[in-house]
Amino acid sequence: MRSRELLAADVSVLEGVSARSAKALRERLGIVSVRDLLEHYPSRYRDVGAVMALRDAPLGEPVTLMGVIDDWQVLRPRGKPGRKPLTIAKARLHADGGGRIDVPFFNQDWRTRRHPRGARVAVSGTLERYRQTVQLKNARLTELEEGLLGPSNEDQILATYPATEALSSARIAGFVRTALARLDELGWPDEFLPLALRRRHGLMGWSEAVRRIHRPADLAEIRPARERLVYDELLSLQIGLQQRRRRLEEDASGLAQAPVCGELAERLLRTLPFTPTDAQQRACRELGADLAREKPMHRLLQGDVGSGKTLVAAWMMLSALDAGRQAVLMAPTEVLAEQHLRTFTHLLAPLGVNAAGGPRVELLTGSTTMARQRRVLAETSSGEIGVLIGTHALLEERVMFADLGAVVVDEQHRFGVEHRARLRAKRRDGRLPDVLVMTATPIPRSLALTIYGDLDVTTLDELPPGRQPIVTRVIDSESPRRQRVYEFIRERVREDERAYVVCPLIEPSEALRVELADQHGDEHGDRSLASAEAMYEHLRTEVFADLRVAKVHGRLSSSEKELAMESFRSGAAPILVATTVIEVGLDVPEATVMVIEDADRFGISQLHQLRGRIGRGASASYCVLFSPVAEEVNARLEALARTADGFELAETDLELRGEGSLFDTRQSGLPDLKLTRLVRDRAWVQHARDDAGALVASDLELAHDPALAEEVARRYGEERLAELRTG
Ligand code: ADP
Ligand code: MG
Repeated sequence: MRSRELLAADVSVLEGVSARSAKALRERLGIVSVRDLLEHYPSRYRDVGAVMALRDAPLGEPVTLMGVIDDWQVLRPRGKPGRKPLTIAKARLHADGGGRIDVPFFNQDWRTRRHPRGARVAVSGTLERYRQTVQLKNARLTELEEGLLGPSNEDQILATYPATEALSSARIAGFVRTALARLDELGWPDEFLPLALRRRHGLMGWSEAVRRIHRPADLAEIRPARERLVYDELLSLQIGLQQRRRRLEEDASGLAQAPVCGELAERLLRTLPFTPTDAQQRACRELGADLAREKPMHRLLQGDVGSGKTLVAAWMMLSALDAGRQAVLMAPTEVLAEQHLRTFTHLLAPLGVNAAGGPRVELLTGSTTMARQRRVLAETSSGEIGVLIGTHALLEERVMFADLGAVVVDEQHRFGVEHRARLRAKRRDGRLPDVLVMTATPIPRSLALTIYGDLDVTTLDELPPGRQPIVTRVIDSESPRRQRVYEFIRERVREDERAYVVCPLIEPSEALRVELADQHGDEHGDRSLASAEAMYEHLRTEVFADLRVAKVHGRLSSSEKELAMESFRSGAAPILVATTVIEVGLDVPEATVMVIEDADRFGISQLHQLRGRIGRGASASYCVLFSPVAEEVNARLEALARTADGFELAETDLELRGEGSLFDTRQSGLPDLKLTRLVRDRAWVQHARDDAGALVASDLELAHDPALAEEVARRYGEERLAELRTG
């Protein structure tokens, strides 16, 4: 077998990987090939230092011992009243070279299951006398892979891998070691990164990087190895995205639709009840230049919550109408689509939109009646409808336009690239309309350029003047201050203001078990979370029995949702209990209070989005984050209390929780970056983007670098890119 074949082969070709292990690797960790295994990187490392025999280990100093767990003993001493009960799990270690010693762990009884009797481990800690015996205190424990023998072993640095119950980190380390050994035997495949790029950034070779990231001889080796592999990931992604974009542009013909003086778009900006911000004007100019060109526009509009993206979108859509064409806007939910319809109708009324003889705006969603659907489809196809607003229903094949000029996708991260492509294909002549996608998760520009690799980016970096700051407070869920919060809501309601109460769940029966990652990142805790249904009943019948309370969540029908929204908007029901369905885009200026239950269950960016639903009117607004007290949780929530800057918060979120935090991780379809952390590796993001641009500009298909072309195709070929929701 050649080394390339080995890399592509199923992991079960490796000696020691049983069919059962291969299945666990595949199903639990998504590892199919040997290559996947090598791209399963350690999540942390530990320098176990010099390993000693127990008899040589000094008291009071840090030492590392290796040995086998003889037994566990779990003690539950009676705690102080009112305190959390304590458990002590004590491992009895049979140390290599002889001798036994106790290694206590506090509140970690899961360890008894994780490292059962007979497990080989390394423990580092301090030897201390305790009563009659000696114990290893403050111990850190790493399970060792099978076959790692004793203190003489070369591995001073122990790598820990993301693992599963069925397959421990130690087993995975063993598999990786086998794979590396096989590659050493067969000879590693050729380097795919052009020498010039390696030289430019001082990067080590691929085989060396792979070897070192898994089995570093010392901690200092990890960083350069990681950098090389991070660069690989980013460069392939950037090349893939830029190739796709150029190919698309090459054989696409778009529409030249320069904004027309004195027509709708221009009049919109003049008839507004407010002055567009400088950022909005700048954005319109950028969009205008794109529209005028025949090359199809592909632009991302991002901006903080409330920065006024809708206006910019409206301007672009009117420009298409001015050119005698149609426009379409797709939103992720019906509630949002309906709100857009309302905004547009309202905003555009002074321009004669929807008046007799004027251009028409219509709605198409899954709950539009059949008869109405038929009419809307016919009138869209004939061109009578100028602007069509809707949800996924717009994607259906039977929706066809007479002359579609502008496509707007709101909350792009809820859709996939293929959705955008389907909307774009709604011209009969195959020419491409101009496309604007909007995202409400503002991120630093350099990161936007990575995640949305093949889009141009316009950023609204300014909020309309006169926004009221939002006072944000973090309060312990159990605190008696809850009553004061309810009284406060009552006061605000008396002033004709409104309050949102947001819960993480719809019904109490749902997912009572919540993953509460402990400091080891892999244990579970139980806690029941607030549900919209239970909270609704509680508030309606007990706390605010004299007021009307409405509820909205994803399990209600669209007419129920619309009814609830309407009574909240009008003030008939001044309190709205909701799930995150209200996260995106809702605009009710009278809402001045938001209470978020179990706030720690949400990401920072998501909380920021939610909070963006208030502070939209003339009155001061207040946001209360209820959460159990815990230090690291509060650090996140306090960040939110400290700043209202969505860009800053997005960055904090990225730093704390990684890329998945910005999007709904289940469906984010983010580029699958295994090592890269966008914030930490920002400089590499930029290098990779620049290098990819230069390569692709001079040699689109990388004919001069076939090995690199192959690597790009493997990681980010057309098929893989089509799955991304972002590019
Ligand atoms: P987002 O960017 O979050 O989608 P919206 O487009 O919903 O923001 O705008 C938020 C609110 O600000 C809306 O009520 C809108 O009418 C208002 N708005 C937009 N632009 C301006 C402006 N230049 N001056 C004052 N208010 C504005
Ligand atoms: Mg919006």
